[in-house]
Amino acid sequence: MMMLIDGEWTGSCSEETYEVKNPANGRLVDTAPLGSAEDVKRAADSAHEAFKKWSELTARERGKILFRAAQRVREKQHELAVTLTMEQGKPLKEARDEIQGFANILEYYSGISAALEGRAVSLANGRHGIILRRPIGVCGAIIPWNVPAIIMGWKVGPALVTGNTLVLKPATTTPLTNLSLASILNASGLPKGVLNVVTGNGASVGEEIVRNPLIKKLSFTGSIETGRRVLQAASSSMKRVTLELGGSDPMIVCDDADIKKAVEGAVHGRFYNCGQTCTAVKRLYVFESIADEFVRKLRGRVERLKVGNGMEEGVDMGPLNNRAQWEQIKTLVDRVKEKEEGNVIAGGKVPEGETYKNGYFYMPTLVTDVAPDSALLEEEVFGPVLPIITVKGLDEAIELANGSKFGLGSSIWTNDIEKIRVACERLESGVTWVNQHVRLPPEMPFGGVKESGIGRENGLEAIDAYCELKSIIM
Ligand code: NAD
Repeated sequence: MMMLIDGEWTGSCSEETYEVKNPANGRLVDTAPLGSAEDVKRAADSAHEAFKKWSELTARERGKILFRAAQRVREKQHELAVTLTMEQGKPLKEARDEIQGFANILEYYSGISAALEGRAVSLANGRHGIILRRPIGVCGAIIPWNVPAIIMGWKVGPALVTGNTLVLKPATTTPLTNLSLASILNASGLPKGVLNVVTGNGASVGEEIVRNPLIKKLSFTGSIETGRRVLQAASSSMKRVTLELGGSDPMIVCDDADIKKAVEGAVHGRFYNCGQTCTAVKRLYVFESIADEFVRKLRGRVERLKVGNGMEEGVDMGPLNNRAQWEQIKTLVDRVKEKEEGNVIAGGKVPEGETYKNGYFYMPTLVTDVAPDSALLEEEVFGPVLPIITVKGLDEAIELANGSKFGLGSSIWTNDIEKIRVACERLESGVTWVNQHVRLPPEMPFGGVKESGIGRENGLEAIDAYCELKSIIM
């Protein structure tokens, strides 16, 4: 595929391309342009030019285009989901959900477009105040490979409806879904230059988006390490910055929890998208009085999960997205075994057989008796490995859950309203789910506390993140 700059489908200035490969079998899916800093400059110039007219439209006119695009995305759901599965690896049913999720986000921002307004205030001595909401200008969006469609929606929806223009960089391994979605947005009436998509590497395309002085705001989703570098580099042009970074979400299962539901929640929470979700359940704390029964049932359920190519019917978990991620997970679990940092009771290996030979597959893995200083608890484990820790009660669970540099999500599984109240108040995270985990409706603001990020996406709060407020006093 080509990339989108100034309304044209184009190659990179260098004319270089790279291969996008299917993580389930190593086969070529398509090629994409290997963009460079020059390409980002072209895109930023175009977005700067397009801003003048785009920002003068009413939010309702902009919202109509997003709505039209959402309808077309729904019509092409299957085709888009196939592209997503082929380049990312997730099972087709998850890819379909993700594409629907993208359409939901566009519809949400289209829906509120008519209600976007400023505020009038009566001041002392007969004076009046008006607070105007103004778009910021050209914005940059840098996204990861784990949920590329949803994360594109989180950025495109609020940025465009408020009148900003965008230069977006997909992750290197998953450019195709983002390009296909951009093509639909364009065909739905976006003027040229309003949305530009530049494909390529973080070190060239990403760094230029962060530095380019025409780009006034940056929304970055990715790892904490890259987020730190991005925050530093963005200071040179005083960009507004939103950072959505990694997480290590705790799930707390209390003694009165519905065990069947909690087992399903843990399976979905950890093994959905092969464990590569920012808000996946990455640490599970279970009350010791129910631990044996819970772990036995969870293990039985995990051992029945079908691992395979996401395009095949009945597959529950696809491969990891790329070699680096696969090697990281293998090395991590091997180290846990070698150093006896825990007891691997399910999985813990690469599956064998013809189906798995050329893909980045790993078995869904459960680890009990985890050492408190194990990397499983201290780092973000971005793959299908779940450490399980037994606790005496809620106080201990919350203390351990909060003993982390991360603070993205958390969940409490109980029917006791007092336990729910205490957990929701004390858990240090941007979102706490009750008897569920992972799902993020577009209406709810989302982001992390501690090192998991700065700012919020989603909901009305994302509108504020893409606007400057101007006060007029008369
Ligand atoms: P990553 O940080 O390696 O890359 C993210 C993006 O940044 C990619 O597009 C990459 O090409 C680009 N990039 C790399 N180096 C760059 C640089 N120096 N300057 C600018 N851009 C650069 O992350 P990843 O491995 O693609 O994604 C996984 C991570 O993303 C996990 O930590 C996960 O938790 C996190 N994540 C967070 C959220 C959230 O909303 N909080 C959502 C999804 C994923």
